Amino acid sequence: MPIDIDALLQDAPDNFVIQNALEKCVDVVSHHQKIMCSVSGGADSDVMLDMLLRCGARGKTDFVFFNTGLEYHATLEHLDDLEKKYNIKILREKPQKSIPQSVKEFGVPFWSKFVSEYINRFQSHTFQWDDLPYKELVEKYPKCKSAINWWCNRMGGDQVFGKTTQYVIERAPYLKEFMIANHPTFKVSSKCCQYAKKEASKQFEKAGGYDLKCMGVRKAEGGARATAFKNCFSEGHHIDNFRPIWWFRDSDRAEYCAHYGVVHSRCYTEYGLVRTGCVGCPFGKRFEDELSVIKAHEPKLYAAALAVFGPAYDYTRRYLEYREKKKQEAKSKPA
Ligand code: SF4
Repeated sequence: MPIDIDALLQDAPDNFVIQNALEKCVDVVSHHQKIMCSVSGGADSDVMLDMLLRCGARGKTDFVFFNTGLEYHATLEHLDDLEKKYNIKILREKPQKSIPQSVKEFGVPFWSKFVSEYINRFQSHTFQWDDLPYKELVEKYPKCKSAINWWCNRMGGDQVFGKTTQYVIERAPYLKEFMIANHPTFKVSSKCCQYAKKEASKQFEKAGGYDLKCMGVRKAEGGARATAFKNCFSEGHHIDNFRPIWWFRDSDRAEYCAHYGVVHSRCYTEYGLVRTGCVGCPFGKRFEDELSVIKAHEPKLYAAALAVFGPAYDYTRRYLEYREKKKQEAKSKPA
């Protein structure tokens, strides 16, 4: 049944961003026949799901949750609640390789996607973490040029290279010095992102013959996911991509939830998390806060996170300690 857009907007909060998003959502949904909506159980995903159903997606949308193999019990329970509340079915899909399997096979993610990829490349060429000039390193490891550019801080080096500081090791202060003094003794890799997340979604999408894929991403969340897109909608060859709440600020999301009675999982309401990504992902330095939450609320998951990501947690802690020491030494040096 077509959506009565006037009635929808009349009932909506008096908020330009929300009203615009609802209008756009009705328009996009009405122009597509088979929709895939990726549900994560997180706060943005909750709002997207509610909005899609208000805007006519019922009956032509498959809601799907990709279980990475490391999930909060509270998230899994929330999926059941969402199914009951909206009278929908959320398909549970398993990736070919879960996060624990990918990590076991390829290595543990450390610090960031870029850092992990470069370290992985070095490790596969038995790099000795040498503190040598660029030319000598290229002679010694001719197949590692882009990683050597990163290691030697050659921004925009002679490869096809980006021009931002994320491509040079000094973006993480003293990391190079730390690694020279403390070679990583465990395999590093961010391939779990590919196998436990991207591939699973790609395969599902391909098999389903969808013409629209919806994701709960917001520009305001920042990070790699948000910088990968410019707008709420992108047209594709086989499938279009729609981010219904792309323009929502935190305040818009809160207003939407209060108005429509959207309730988030216990990860937010009880555990106090402000976002839920991969449980205990070792990227960055904020994993410590998440680990203490997991330990307090889901002790079995805590043990699993330690078993999977433990070497990266330890290495990061040692790096941060080293970095702090170096910073203090630099401060106390006479000018
Ligand atoms: S976000 Fe972290 S834990 Fe999750 S798949 Fe990517 S690297 Fe692995």
